[in-house]
Amino acid sequence: MSHAEEAIRPRTPRIGEEARSADAPRSVPSDAAYSPPRLIELSPQNLYDKCMALARNLWWSWHPEVTNLFRELDPIRFRQLDHNPIALLAEFTPERLEARAAELVLYSRINQAYRRLKEYVGAEDTWSDVHAGVLGSKPVVYFSAEFGIHESVPIYSGGLGVLSGDHVKSASGLGLPLIAVGLFYNQGYFKQQLDIDGYQHEEYLQTRVDLLPIEPAIGVDGKPIVVQVDTRGGGIRAKVWKMAVGRCNLYLLDCDVEGNSPEDRALTSRLYGGDTRVRIRQELVLGIGGVRAIRALGVTPGVYHLNEGHSVFATLEAVREQMNANGFSYDDAVRMVARQTVFTTHTPVPAGHDRFDGGLIEEHLGPMRDSLGISHEQLMALGRVEPHNHAEPFCMTVLGLKLSRRANAVSQLHGHVSRKMWANLWPWRVEEEVPIGHITNGVHVPSWLSWQMLQLYDRIFPANWFRKMGEPGIWQSIYDVDPGELWETHYALKNLLLQFVRRRVSRQCRRRGECDEAVEAARNVLDPNILTIGFARRFATYKRADLVLNDLERLFTLIADRDRPIQIIFAGKAHPADEPGKGLIRKIANLRHDPRTSGRIVFIEDYDINVCRHLIQGVDVWLNNPRRPLEASGTSGQKVVLNGGLNCSILDGWWAEAYDGKNGFAIGRGEIHANDEITDRRDYEALYETLEKEVIPCFYERDADGLPRRWIQMMMNSIGSLAWRFSAHRMVMDYARACYVPAAGGVSCDMTNR
Ligand SMILES: *Cc1c(COP(=O)(O)O)cnc(C)c1O
Repeated sequence: MSHAEEAIRPRTPRIGEEARSADAPRSVPSDAAYSPPRLIELSPQNLYDKCMALARNLWWSWHPEVTNLFRELDPIRFRQLDHNPIALLAEFTPERLEARAAELVLYSRINQAYRRLKEYVGAEDTWSDVHAGVLGSKPVVYFSAEFGIHESVPIYSGGLGVLSGDHVKSASGLGLPLIAVGLFYNQGYFKQQLDIDGYQHEEYLQTRVDLLPIEPAIGVDGKPIVVQVDTRGGGIRAKVWKMAVGRCNLYLLDCDVEGNSPEDRALTSRLYGGDTRVRIRQELVLGIGGVRAIRALGVTPGVYHLNEGHSVFATLEAVREQMNANGFSYDDAVRMVARQTVFTTHTPVPAGHDRFDGGLIEEHLGPMRDSLGISHEQLMALGRVEPHNHAEPFCMTVLGLKLSRRANAVSQLHGHVSRKMWANLWPWRVEEEVPIGHITNGVHVPSWLSWQMLQLYDRIFPANWFRKMGEPGIWQSIYDVDPGELWETHYALKNLLLQFVRRRVSRQCRRRGECDEAVEAARNVLDPNILTIGFARRFATYKRADLVLNDLERLFTLIADRDRPIQIIFAGKAHPADEPGKGLIRKIANLRHDPRTSGRIVFIEDYDINVCRHLIQGVDVWLNNPRRPLEASGTSGQKVVLNGGLNCSILDGWWAEAYDGKNGFAIGRGEIHANDEITDRRDYEALYETLEKEVIPCFYERDADGLPRRWIQMMMNSIGSLAWRFSAHRMVMDYARACYVPAAGGVSCDMTNR
C-alpha cells in the first residue's frame, strides 16, 4: 500500500475523537481584525456523540454523577437494561436525546462530564509518574480469566473477576501503565432463577456485542488483530476486542471467528463451562493467544502479571519470543521471563488448582515445545512438584511458581497456607522461606462507595482525600463526622436496600406465579428498624451459607424476639454442577414458607455486581463464616466497610489481619479443629455466641437521642482503620513497589520473600 493510500484510508476513530474534532476551534485568518462572538452550539448529533463517548469508557461506572446522567434520561429503562448506557442510548435518536436533555437541563452536566473524562485520560501528574516511571515505556500486562467491571458487561462469575476489575480500575486511577488481557465470553456467566420449589435454574443469554463498550482491537499493521494458537490437532483462532476502562485498556480474546471448527467457535462462550479439554483450550488461548495479541499491538511488556493459574501458559510464549526474537538460549530465556513475571495464587485447597494429564498437554503444547526445543518430559517437569514423577499431572500453579521470580498469595494467612502447600517445590528451604509472599486484596473505593457516603466524606475529609484513598491518614477524618449524621446516612442507605429487596422479592414471586397476597406481602417485607444481616456469596460448600441455620429453633428465637429481632438477606449462585450447593440454596429459599420466620429471611436471586452493591451499601452487618483457612481473602466485607456496615466474620482471609477487637466482630478466635464436623459445631456455637452476646445487644443499645453510640463508634473504627488498608489503591501500590517496578528493572523494594 502506498503512502497516499495510507493517508486517505479511513481508520477506526478513537474514543471521543469525533466529538473532539467537532469541538476544535475553527482556524481564523491571522489578519482578521475582528471576529464576531460565536455561541458554541451543540448539534443533536454532537450531544449524542458526547454521551456515546462517555458510555464507551467504563470510567462512567465509578462516577455517580455520570451514572446519574444516564439514569435520569430514563430511570426505568436504565434499570431494565442492566444499567447499560449504550443499550439505553440505542433507544434514543439524537433529536429525542436533545429534547430530553433540554427538558432535564442536562447540557452543562454532559459537557462537564465529557471534559472531565478527557482531562482524566490525558492527565500527567499521576502517582505512577512519580513512583513507577520505569513502567512508562514497559507496561504491565495483567492476565486474568475473568473481569468484573460492571453488571452490564457479563464476563465475570465472582470474586476473582471483581478483584481483577478493581485492580484495573485502581491502576487507571494511579496512572499505572497497565494493559489487561482476558477472554470474551459471549454468553457470560448464567442468570439464576429459583423455581417454586427453591431449586436453582441456569439461563445463558447471548450477549449483544453491538451494545457493549468494545471495538475490534487494531494492530500496528492497521488491521483488526486475529491471533492463532497451534495444537497437534490444528490451530485455534481468536479475534481481539478492546474495552476502555478509564486510562487502561482491556483486551478480550474471542474464538467465535471464521476458520474455527464449530466447537472452537463456542470455546469462549461460557465461563468455566466445559470439561478439562475445553478448559486447557481456553487457557491456551488466554495465555499464548494473549501474549501474541499484545505483540500484535506493538507493545513490549515490562512485566507479566498472571492473576491465578489460568493464564500461565503465557510464560511459555514469552520464553519462545525471547529465543526467537532475541536469540537467547532456552535456559537464559526462562531466566529472563521469570524475572519479568509476577504470579498471584488464589486457591488454598490443593484440589482447586488446574491440572492436566500428559495427553492433553502433548496435544495442546506439542507445537510449543517443538519451538522451545524441549522434550515432552522436560515440559511436564515444569508443571510437576516432583519433576520425574510420571504419575503426576501438569499443574498450572506449579508452572506459575517455577516461571516467576515473584509470587504471592492474597492475604497474610493465605501466605502461610500457600507456603505450606507448596513447600515441596523447595525441599531445601524451611517453610517460612518458601518464596511465596502475600499482598492482601483490596476493593476499588469509587466503585463500591455509595453516593450518600461520598457526599458525607467530601464535606468532612481534606480536599484531596480522593487521590489519597490508599493512605492511612486520610481516613482518620471519619472521627470528625457527627455521629448522628453518620447514623442517619447509614439509615437512609438501609432504606434504599430494603426498597431494592422488596422490588426484587415481589418480582420473583410474580414470576413464579404466586398468589396476589404473597406478592403483596413481598412488597412490604423487612423493617428498617430491625438489625439487618447480609450474607451473599458463591454457594461453595466451604462458605457454609447454612451455618446460621444449624439449629432452626435458636434462629427463630432470635428472629422473632419482641424487643431485639434480627432479619437476614441471602443471595448467591451455586455452580451449575454443584448439587450440594443448589440444595443449600433450596433450604434457605424455602424458609420463607415457614411462618416462624415472619418474613424475616429473604433470598435475592441472581447475585451479581448490582445486587452486591445494593447489599454492601445498606446492611448493618455482613456475615461471613467460611471453614478456616479456606477463604483466601474475600473482598465483599471490604466493600461493606466503606459504607459504614460492620463485619461479623470467622478470622479467615482478610478479616484475620483486619480485626482489632474494636472495628467489628469476630466469630471464634481463629482455631483450626481436627475435622470438619468438629469445626462446624464449634463455629456454629461461636457464631451464636457472638450474635447473642455482642452484635444484638450493641445494636439495640440506644442513648437518650435514640442513637446506638457504641455501634456508631465501631462504624468509625471500622472505616478509620480498614478503608485505606483494604482499598485496591493500596493493593496496586503494593504490587507496583514490590513487584512491578523491580520486575521491570527499576529499584527493588522486595516484599514478596524472594
Ligand atoms: C465482591 C464480589 C464478590 C467477592 O465476594 P467474596 O465472597 O467476599 O469473595 C463476589 N461476587 C460479586 C458479584 C462481588 O461483587
